[in-house]
Amino acid sequence: MTDTVLVINAGSSSIKFALYRFALNKMARIQTHAFLSGKIVNIGQCPKLYALDANGADLSNNDLDVFNEKTAHEELIQWLLDWINSHAQGYKIKGVGHRVVHGGRDFLTATKLTVNVVTHLKELIPLAPLHQPHNLAAIEAIFNWAPELPQVACFDTSFHHTQSPLAQLFALPREYSDRGIIRYGFHGLSYQYIASCLPEYLGTLSEGRVIVAHLGNGASMCALKQRKSVATTMGFTALDGLIMGQRCGSLDAGVVIHLLRHYKMSIDEVDHLLNNESGLLGVSGISNDMKILEQSNDPQAKQAIDLFCYRAARELASLVSTLNGLDVIVFTAGIGEKSAQIREQICAHLAWLGVALDLKENRQHNGVISQVDSKIKVLVIPTNEEVVIAQATQKILIDH
Ligand code: ADP
Repeated sequence: MTDTVLVINAGSSSIKFALYRFALNKMARIQTHAFLSGKIVNIGQCPKLYALDANGADLSNNDLDVFNEKTAHEELIQWLLDWINSHAQGYKIKGVGHRVVHGGRDFLTATKLTVNVVTHLKELIPLAPLHQPHNLAAIEAIFNWAPELPQVACFDTSFHHTQSPLAQLFALPREYSDRGIIRYGFHGLSYQYIASCLPEYLGTLSEGRVIVAHLGNGASMCALKQRKSVATTMGFTALDGLIMGQRCGSLDAGVVIHLLRHYKMSIDEVDHLLNNESGLLGVSGISNDMKILEQSNDPQAKQAIDLFCYRAARELASLVSTLNGLDVIVFTAGIGEKSAQIREQICAHLAWLGVALDLKENRQHNGVISQVDSKIKVLVIPTNEEVVIAQATQKILIDH
């Protein structure tokens, strides 16, 4: 039997999973190769399973066709656990690590899950209503499935706890920040992974002034000094900052007041508008998917891309002042890793800073993509949040 750690990343429309080898030495790095990995996608419509075994063989199937748009997350997780169990023969699951979006002010590192911790995490649901309930549903489904199996929560917010109080404060009356209405920041597991890779790519420069652009369906940027978070574009919720697939990013709060007062929209309608109908989808009127927009000739698709890049460059430039300058930009996540066009367009806005891309290298999608004499080094590094979760889970399992 090979001991393994199961990683679960349960989102609103997908559940991703991966099984990694567990090492008894807590300092041993988790091998990035997963024995079994995959995802259930299209939850809320017509769920589908995509999966690969240790040799990369495709295990995707239509077994989920029995489910439909009404199937709850809990039921799908239950099904997935049984499926993993039947396909993971020869592997023993020693523990499960979860991505949990919000750790609030109290969870500053990965934490072993107990009834008390879960209760506390439920209290944070109002801070991340679109994500936290799904993370918790997976945790509870596993507690029901195997009550003795240790589970660990790894938080998207934790990485940002190194930020100064100034970087976290909104200019609201003090009583609101005292109640926890502050900038938390998200995508911390991705930033932690990139921070851990920087020395390998940059040597001593990795301790310098770095901005990481996590550009996926959700998108944010993080300013790092000595590989620690100094500032980030997301705030109290994951709605702030950059334009995203369906989220508007930073928005004049007066717009929200206007929608409520003048258009008489309900709170839920405004919530849906800003979180699900805006961003690339709203501006293009076509899709939230950057790949589709890049292939479109529609002028509104082009404008959505232009706005995405313009706003990304603007946010990046504001982070430069939090670092008093800039040495390195790293692109990561779906768009950041795969779209040469978007990287080129964002960097073109930053030429005044001394950013000079090597267009040929940029098309290779990996490693250093700036010209040798570029004042600011630009890199593409593929992110791997699952490995960060597996590593933290392994450490906690050994410590306890
Ligand atoms: P999530 O936030 O859901 O994890 P990902 O990091 O997988 O998102 O990124 C999804 C985004 O990456 C989508 O907008 C998708 O179109 C974009 N993307 C993926 N591959 C490409 C590509 N080859 N060219 C342009 N965009 C791409």
